[in-house]
Amino acid sequence: MKNPWQKALIEAITDPKELLEVLELPHDLLSEMINASKLFPLKVPRSYMARMQKGNRHDPLLLQVLPIDLEEKEVNGYAKDPLEEKKYNPVPGLLHKYKSRVLLTMTGVCGVHCRFCFRRHFPYNDNNPGKSGWNDVISYIANDTSIHEVILSGGDPLAMNDHLLSDFTEKLAEIPHLKRLRIHTRMPIVIPERVNDELITWISQLSLKTTVVIHCNHTNEIDADVKLGLAKLAQSGALLLNQSVLLKNINDNVETLCELSENLFAAGVLPYYLHVLDKVQGAAHFDIDRDTAKQLHVELTARLSGYLVPRLVKTTPGAPAKLSIYT
Ligand SMILES: *Cc1c(COP(=O)(O)O)cnc(C)c1O
Ligand code: SF4
Repeated sequence: MKNPWQKALIEAITDPKELLEVLELPHDLLSEMINASKLFPLKVPRSYMARMQKGNRHDPLLLQVLPIDLEEKEVNGYAKDPLEEKKYNPVPGLLHKYKSRVLLTMTGVCGVHCRFCFRRHFPYNDNNPGKSGWNDVISYIANDTSIHEVILSGGDPLAMNDHLLSDFTEKLAEIPHLKRLRIHTRMPIVIPERVNDELITWISQLSLKTTVVIHCNHTNEIDADVKLGLAKLAQSGALLLNQSVLLKNINDNVETLCELSENLFAAGVLPYYLHVLDKVQGAAHFDIDRDTAKQLHVELTARLSGYLVPRLVKTTPGAPAKLSIYT
């Protein structure tokens, strides 16, 4: 028997025609959806789709998942590996790019396929540790005492089942210099059923201080089920943070960003990062120019309490951290 969340993952919409029909959208979108989903398949969980407005082709949630022709356009300056991550990949499944922390690509599976994702071309199949590769990951971390934090990422680490996750963190817990665990996940937003009792038990019992960084881009993503899941996560003792990506026609205005911060906080989540888009091939149509991004952030800062303002950052290859857009 599958858990409800696993069922939701399997039953996500992958057929362009079905998405159009359920959302009552015009059929003229179909051929470009089919073409663009050859590069990166369509994947939309049903509960996420239910938060979209029927008949609205500009719905801010729909725009994040709708495959379109513009993805096939080659644009100067947009690369398949914009962050040059291959350089920081000492063992399969592990990225050691910044000091004191490593990021693990635990799985290539996600609950949703975001069209702007910088990992859309990532060679997950070569870079999934799988159970056998985990020993190499663990020994790498155990052998470097400068590492204090492990970030579970992906794909989406919460697309993995709770047994695998807890087996893995049991091994991590034996490494004396590790202090913190971080989970980067969009699952509590796109498949809120994922926040079940098993997950909460796992997090509550972790000996490492745990942070969960969710990925929410628009306040319409936060419905009653999402709020319930976030409340449970907060009770597990984890610190809850959010990262968003600044996306053209989706959240690139002050009202939308203010509302997002307010509603995240009401749900127990602090805004952490607002990323400008990583220049990945196929996503140029989501990009906002840096001056506009900066101006938006200035206005946001003038409107909100300091702790509700996410840091506006960009990822620069070779830099020692994600850089504030002001530097
Ligand atoms: C974003 C990222 C981190 C974490 O950076 P923080 O600024 O600590 O949130 C770590 N490793 C990699 C490879 C990353 O991309
Ligand atoms: S959930 Fe995250 S990793 Fe997965 S496609 Fe969306 S942005 Fe990319």
